[in-house]
Amino acid sequence: MAAEKFCVGYVDSVYCGSGVDGRGLRCVVFFSGCNLRCPFCHNPETLYKQGTATGIDELMARLLRYKPYFRRGGVTLSGGEPFLQKQFVLALAERLKAEGVHVCIETNGHICDGELIAAGDLIVDIKNQQSGDLSAYEKFLAECRRLGARVEVTNVLVPGVNDGEEALRALGSLVKKYYPNGKIRFLPFRKLCAEKYENLGLPFVYANVREAEEEDVKRAEKLVNL
Ligand code: SF4
Repeated sequence: MAAEKFCVGYVDSVYCGSGVDGRGLRCVVFFSGCNLRCPFCHNPETLYKQGTATGIDELMARLLRYKPYFRRGGVTLSGGEPFLQKQFVLALAERLKAEGVHVCIETNGHICDGELIAAGDLIVDIKNQQSGDLSAYEKFLAECRRLGARVEVTNVLVPGVNDGEEALRALGSLVKKYYPNGKIRFLPFRKLCAEKYENLGLPFVYANVREAEEEDVKRAEKLVNL
């Protein structure tokens, strides 16, 4: 068990009670640090603080206390970008699976690493808001497919930014190319995080962009999830 020696990770927080980060009810571990700087990031606190150095035994003990609660769901590793802490994530996923806990990893898909891709089910949140370049995802999803990974694709829908027909169709074609039966779950852009930016003294670049409504999401789903 070589990964065992990497027993400290940088974690921002642990939240128990999510119903949207993988199947069933889940505990979510938010890792600190990210390789991207999305202007709409909902968790800016995970990007600019180092997080708490957390021992794997301590984290496992905490997560297993919640096991009766999430037994039909599992644990989701999120962030930040968990793929940045490869050895810790591999070790944690291995320990959780050994306890019979379902593991899901939420990633921005910019770090194409086969070992991490194979470490759990994946939620790949496609970031096409700042650039229409999807080449990183061509590579990532091709590798997921090659490894037989179970993948859910999500995308934060930002009105006037990435909800144009061309961008949506490009996204749909990309996902269908690698996962013909795959559907994209659109996450409506929200501004609840504005206060976090204020508290951190950071500009919230999308402060004047309108939030996405249910009809925006339905329109995007109709265009893409045929
Ligand atoms: S990839 Fe996720 S955590 Fe990283 S900056 Fe973008 S939204 Fe935030």
